[in-house]
Amino acid sequence: MEQRAAETGIKVIIVGAGFAGLTAAIECYRKGHDVVVFESFPELKPLGDIISFGRNAGRIVARWGNGSVVEQIYPISIQNKELKFFKYDGDFIIAQQVPPQNPVAPFLNGHRGEIHEILFNHAKKIGIDIRLGCRVLEYVEEPGRAGVRVNGETIWGDVVVGSDGVRSKARELVLGYVDKPKSSGYAIYRAWFDSEPLLKDPMTKHLVENGDTHTGWLGPEVHFLAASLKGGEDFSWVCTHKDDADIEESWSFPGKIEDALKVIDGWDPIVRRIVELTPECVDWKLVYRDPLPTWISKEARTCLVGDAAHPFLPTSIQGASQAMEDGCVLAACLQIGGKENVPTAVRAYQKIRYGRVRRAQLLGEETRDTWHKADFDKIKDDPEKIKLKREDWLFAFDCEANTYEVYEGVVKELAGTPTADVVQLLPIESINVAA
Ligand SMILES: Cc1cc2nc3c(=O)[nH]c(=O)nc-3n(C[C@H](O)[C@H](O)[C@H](O)COP(=O)(O)OP(=O)(O)OC[C@H]3O[C@@H](n4cnc5c(N)ncnc54)[C@H](O)[C@@H]3O)c2cc1C
Repeated sequence: MEQRAAETGIKVIIVGAGFAGLTAAIECYRKGHDVVVFESFPELKPLGDIISFGRNAGRIVARWGNGSVVEQIYPISIQNKELKFFKYDGDFIIAQQVPPQNPVAPFLNGHRGEIHEILFNHAKKIGIDIRLGCRVLEYVEEPGRAGVRVNGETIWGDVVVGSDGVRSKARELVLGYVDKPKSSGYAIYRAWFDSEPLLKDPMTKHLVENGDTHTGWLGPEVHFLAASLKGGEDFSWVCTHKDDADIEESWSFPGKIEDALKVIDGWDPIVRRIVELTPECVDWKLVYRDPLPTWISKEARTCLVGDAAHPFLPTSIQGASQAMEDGCVLAACLQIGGKENVPTAVRAYQKIRYGRVRRAQLLGEETRDTWHKADFDKIKDDPEKIKLKREDWLFAFDCEANTYEVYEGVVKELAGTPTADVVQLLPIESINVAA
């Protein structure tokens, strides 16, 4: 069912069974570590809407279960051939071709809850101990071990992985203070629904009648992305817009269709009709964080992965992918380092990941600004400008192979440096972009 390397005797405690935690768990299992996962939700529910995994993450998943995990995701993943861009008023800009699927490193894009369920079931099937309904209330650490307080007990391990999302509690132990999120200045209306009403409407039926499509409309400080999936049977859209409301971050505020329509007032009638035909939407306030100064604790036995370490803007289209790379790299570092060298391995994990993640985060800001501040007269002359960047340093990267390649050198670089000095905010030119 799953390949497993020789046992290392390293006990890994993982908090959170999102994409970061599940990937860390499956990869730790594959690398021979003992794994236990604590997750606060009491039962698995298919929550969320559209989510994307770049080829760099697809490469990780493609290795699981001899390819059987990706085989389950393919049928529910979008199969579009191009991404069409329009100006907000409906003027066509350009069609960006989607490269053909690569079975070694597939691009996966579908319903978050459905893909999550496939990964969760795979983890359970290979025997990973996932304990639901277990909210970790405290993270603890002492020389030689780290642990969590959960259900009135303290559970100790060699390393604790905080994959507990944007509102991470693990971050408090790692940073030594409570880090306040800040508003990104944007919010997103999001929806996922049966495309039947769109099929019946002459204005929108072209989006769903001939299989999967992906379309973007760009306007000042607003962009609208619409996708039809499963042969056009399901439909999803996201509309990112300016919003300075100071509210708690969440995925699931009910949104109002009339508010979403206000944001696209004067836009292409096709976009407006999509929203009018939408049964319900959510209003997600997009919270952002400055890069954390560190992702690892003083003793280097507790570390952050995924959104707990680095929330992403959706325009990077890499949040979930980078969360997966984190888990994969951490598991490999622990395997190479071995039980006697857990803190060194954890420090190496951070050193290997930090620059690459930062660069991917910045790409999200760049794309958002390109789209939201587009000068459409200039775009007419050079429409290529608004295409999504699909650069090899990001997508053609094998994070596992890279870890085996650079680990020893990274450990040499770390020798003699105190833990707290490991991370600096590197200038963008100096970040390792090896593909
Ligand atoms: C319900 C939900 C819906 C989402 N929908 C979308 C979407 O539609 N599109 C999209 O692009 N992204 C969505 N995301 C975010 C996306 O999944 C993440 O940005 C990305 O995949 C990184 O994942 P992560 O594992 O780091 O964080 P998350 O996916 O947020 O996972 C963190 C996990 O940790 C658990 N947890 C938190 N605190 C504790 C604790 N103290 N003890 C135990 N467990 C804890 C949470 O219940 C959660 O399962 C959603 C996230 C959630 C939680």
